[in-house]
Amino acid sequence: DPTLDPHSTIPSYGFQPAATQTKSPHNPALLHRSLAHQPDTVTHASGIHLTLSSGRTIIDACGGAAVSCIGQNNDEVFAAALQQMRRVSYVHTGAYTTSSAEDLASVILDVGAPYGLEKAFFVGSGSEAMDAAMKLARQFFYEGGRPERRHFVARRQSYHGATLGAMSLSSNLARKVPYEPLLLSNVSHVGPAYAYQYQRAEESEEQYVMRLAEELDGEFQRLGPETVIAFVAEPIVGATSGCVPAPSGYFRAVREVCDRYGVLLILDEVMCGMGRCGSYFAFEPEAVVPDIMTMGKGLGGGYAPIAGVLVGRKVVKGLRDGTGMFNHGHTYQAHPLSCASALAVQKIIKRDGLVERCRDRGLFLERELREALEGRKYVGDIRGRGLFWGIEFVQNKETKRSFEPKTEFGYRVQRKAFDLGVALYPGAATVDGVRGDHVLIAPPYTVTEAELKTIVQVVREAYDAVEWGVDEVS
Ligand code: PMP
Repeated sequence: DPTLDPHSTIPSYGFQPAATQTKSPHNPALLHRSLAHQPDTVTHASGIHLTLSSGRTIIDACGGAAVSCIGQNNDEVFAAALQQMRRVSYVHTGAYTTSSAEDLASVILDVGAPYGLEKAFFVGSGSEAMDAAMKLARQFFYEGGRPERRHFVARRQSYHGATLGAMSLSSNLARKVPYEPLLLSNVSHVGPAYAYQYQRAEESEEQYVMRLAEELDGEFQRLGPETVIAFVAEPIVGATSGCVPAPSGYFRAVREVCDRYGVLLILDEVMCGMGRCGSYFAFEPEAVVPDIMTMGKGLGGGYAPIAGVLVGRKVVKGLRDGTGMFNHGHTYQAHPLSCASALAVQKIIKRDGLVERCRDRGLFLERELREALEGRKYVGDIRGRGLFWGIEFVQNKETKRSFEPKTEFGYRVQRKAFDLGVALYPGAATVDGVRGDHVLIAPPYTVTEAELKTIVQVVREAYDAVEWGVDEVS
């Protein structure tokens, strides 16, 4: 059936413009995020392309939400998943394990072990991984005879997940405010490492890093450093403000502050890890190793729901010296289908040198983006690493003031790009008066240079249309 192969219907430009398409009716039984709008139904997906029920094919330039890393419809992953399901479709991890789970841990620890990351375990989502990391860190101190340690310090302009624990760490107010009374009270937040908006004009990068480290130290002092469990941060902030790498030296500096008080460092690599930023772990370029690390999206590449936690030597030893168990589990933890799928994805990443490819293509994408958009009236910042790029829009480039929320600049760029056949991931979350209005580009590591050129061309066209529309109104 040729309609099962979306490539067979793709014209040379890579997609069909929306104007020639109609939207199909949806089944309203499904509660979508928005009760007012139903999203498009995707009927087929292959590589970087999604085919909608209208018959239209688009380029998924954001891999869902930085999830798809080897592209969709990969036969090797299907074969591995099927083989696992035929052999063992389910075991409860309280009593059993599977070779898929064990081998997946080994493949990841091949990279992690030299950094002192000793063990891996797997859950179903990034949020679950963050909650597990919080409980693990608390248990480390509880069993180590330090039950007074009960506080977490995270950062403003961050997102760590939708469960109540992970959301307590997050400061994405748009996603958080209605649920405030349900959230943990023992989480506080310090400033983000977000130079474009927060570094002062008179400050060098080094001074900015020093200021952030002093702020963290001050927060530990305020809480009583002996009561703090961990500092939690994304090495490259993803969904809140749009691919913001920390200034150089930042993680070394905060690691030092943590070490000064015996506070653990938890890095959330759910979005930026597993090769996405051009190194297998995002922490590698600075080689500042966390005590506990989470991973997610790129782990299973979207083939199955899976996320994980990597546990460093010190915490593993703490558990061994304590009760010798981590009393935390989900029914579908380390599910065989998820582990087999993720194992196949990780083997492909390794065998095909996709982390290196991601780094190289990332340099190409950066050049293309800068050439197409730098200097544009409302393009404030273009930043990222590997194949993880954000474009921040501001109303005034001098003051870096964001557009009013109602302008929805990033969302408009996303909608226009979608009409032109390219899916982007928009976001904005006002914190400290900074809106971080952006679109995010995070294609699979297998993306070609020609596809990247098309993506950038469409982003530029979409940006131009929105700029023109905004100027018209004002
Ligand atoms: N941490 C980060 C950095 C994330 O970007 C996300 C998801 N966007 C999560 C945690 C939560 O992951 P999940 O949606 O799989 O629960």
